[in-house]
Amino acid sequence: MLRRLLNGILLLGALAPGLSTAADVFRAGAAAVDVTPPVFPVIVNGMFEERTADSAHDRLMSRALVLDDGALRIAIVVVDNLMLPRELLDRAKTMASESAGVPVDRILISATHTHSAPSAMGCLGSGPDPAYREFLPGQIAKSIVLAAQNLAPARVGWTVATDAVHNHCRRWIYRPDRMATDPFGQPNVRAHMHPGHQSANHIGPSGPADTDLSLLSVQTRDGRPLAVLANYAMHYYYSPLVSADFCGRFGDALAKQINASQDPAFVGIMSQGTSGDSMWMDYSQPRGERDLDAYTAAVATLAAAAYAKIEYQEQPTLAMAETTLTLRRRTPDAARLAAARETLAALAGKTPSSRPEIYAQEQIYLHEQPEVELKLQAIRIGDLGITGIPDEVYGLTGLKLKARSPLQPTFNIELANGAEGYIPPPEQHHLGGYTTWAARTAGLEVQAEPQIVDTLVRLLEQVSGRTARTPSEPTTAYAKAVLAAKPAAFWRLDEMQGSDAHDAVGEHPGKYELGVAFYLPGRTLPSATAADPAPVDRCIHTAGGRMLADVPDLGNRYSVAGWIWNGLPTDARETTGYCFARGSSAEQPLAGDLLGLGGGTDAAKQGKLIVSAGEKSLTGQTAVPRKRWTHVVLIRDGDQVRVYQNGQLDLEGQLPAGRLGSHLILGGRGDEQFGWEGKLDDWAVFARPLTAEDAAALYAAGGK
Ligand SMILES: [Zn+2]
Repeated sequence: MLRRLLNGILLLGALAPGLSTAADVFRAGAAAVDVTPPVFPVIVNGMFEERTADSAHDRLMSRALVLDDGALRIAIVVVDNLMLPRELLDRAKTMASESAGVPVDRILISATHTHSAPSAMGCLGSGPDPAYREFLPGQIAKSIVLAAQNLAPARVGWTVATDAVHNHCRRWIYRPDRMATDPFGQPNVRAHMHPGHQSANHIGPSGPADTDLSLLSVQTRDGRPLAVLANYAMHYYYSPLVSADFCGRFGDALAKQINASQDPAFVGIMSQGTSGDSMWMDYSQPRGERDLDAYTAAVATLAAAAYAKIEYQEQPTLAMAETTLTLRRRTPDAARLAAARETLAALAGKTPSSRPEIYAQEQIYLHEQPEVELKLQAIRIGDLGITGIPDEVYGLTGLKLKARSPLQPTFNIELANGAEGYIPPPEQHHLGGYTTWAARTAGLEVQAEPQIVDTLVRLLEQVSGRTARTPSEPTTAYAKAVLAAKPAAFWRLDEMQGSDAHDAVGEHPGKYELGVAFYLPGRTLPSATAADPAPVDRCIHTAGGRMLADVPDLGNRYSVAGWIWNGLPTDARETTGYCFARGSSAEQPLAGDLLGLGGGTDAAKQGKLIVSAGEKSLTGQTAVPRKRWTHVVLIRDGDQVRVYQNGQLDLEGQLPAGRLGSHLILGGRGDEQFGWEGKLDDWAVFARPLTAEDAAALYAAGGK
């Protein structure tokens, strides 16, 4: 009896995960294998046209990390390359799997996105380099096998630092009067990458950057550094051909900073985050002098400071899940396909080189391959989450995954397990620009991004055994003050996606039109403290789109309060833009109340707050500074109108109410004229006239 009982316990012990025996001590191994091309010249992709290189500026590597918790073995590999096709990576996985003891579906391989490496796949004007394509999979496999051979008892820890200095959104929204033309001849480019520093043609970034600098540290049990897997969403720096660029250099720079030794050989790995719309340049500032090595050292210094504070675990458990998702490509319609064929026929076999020629060629590709299967992955290391995404997604997509992931923290490795181009959030397609133009570089259906995010969130649920989180609006001093003042509706404008504008009061959700960009950094919160660390409130940027809502029973004694940030020069047009309208319709845009900024050349109106009702209007005293957050309150008390700017009375007078009604608009008026060109945040409407004290108190609660 006793013996049977003991046998039962032993059996349980052998099966139960997490029960430590000699066999399931957590182990890790890392290795780096040189993948610099052995033969030159090589074809280099990464720019619009194909280039060739005759030598290597620095070494390219495949850096592998293998982790084993006794029950599961996984591999994470980062290769110095622009992007790697799925077939090539599947081949490398198959080659490594048996010798490394890692199942094929427990290997993540990603590209760093250096734009200075040999071409492993065709892209825009570049073809693949066939010899390099043959050479690479074996070298990647070798790095995995070597890392597995290096497995030794280890401990892991992780941390996330913020580095908003070295990473910025590179995609900017154009002024409506300065839009550009797409490769198909349509003047629809409302947002595009690389505006230039302090461009006169642009308003501001079209989205947030993910500025997390995430670190997974692996050490020997006695605390010697074995490897660091870092993740940062910075597209690339640019270096001469052939080069590993920023990501490749980062590991060595970090090794220096943390005094990592060569015994055991330390492997510093920088993986690419969700950087489809990000870059190191800050286009809101004048052009500054930069240098790749100084830049890399600066990021590594921040990483080293965060690294020093990491706490370690000796027996974390591992989990990994993989799935596939089939998506449609945006195939050309009959007219575009016919035009593409005509363009290519005119070339008579010559290689396409101009923009229209290259995009014509891409239309044929999309037409012939209308569907694609994506491989998506999620990994759990203790409580750390990692996703693998085979595309270049935007900073916003990474922030969505981080906000919804049940694992905190989570980071995202893009260009993993394949390369299916840019995947903008759906609303960004409407704004156009390079990263939306249908080609292999950005060919998936408009709704690809939410499907990718949802699938990854499900995988994160699977590896964690927990339910995804629902992102919530930050509790700020300003929001508390507004809610305490009992508004009829309060739109925080913090949405990350979709068309619904949440009403914090709960009664009157609004609808976003296309032409609205989400989750831009808003005001820095005065309430941000270590205990409440949210550094910014989020806001929308209206670029042709508006938010529409219905709030009945406001009557002709009502108020509206919110924050405005105008990006358009105030002499650009007759009216700079309307931030709020009530009772205005497409047929009668001037009916009801309109609040906006004056424009034109008349100094008496330019940049000043204006309120109009029908044909009559009132103008404020103080010009609203461009590109600065300003608090506005409009109060109507019968025929009496007052406007407060940053808590101060700015205009006051008689303005007989016209048609008011329940229809409210943020970011424009009833027709498509004079939309708000900039950001809006935290707008509330009250079914009563606020007082001067209310206006001052609201500003004081959220100002600075
Ligand atoms: Zn790119």
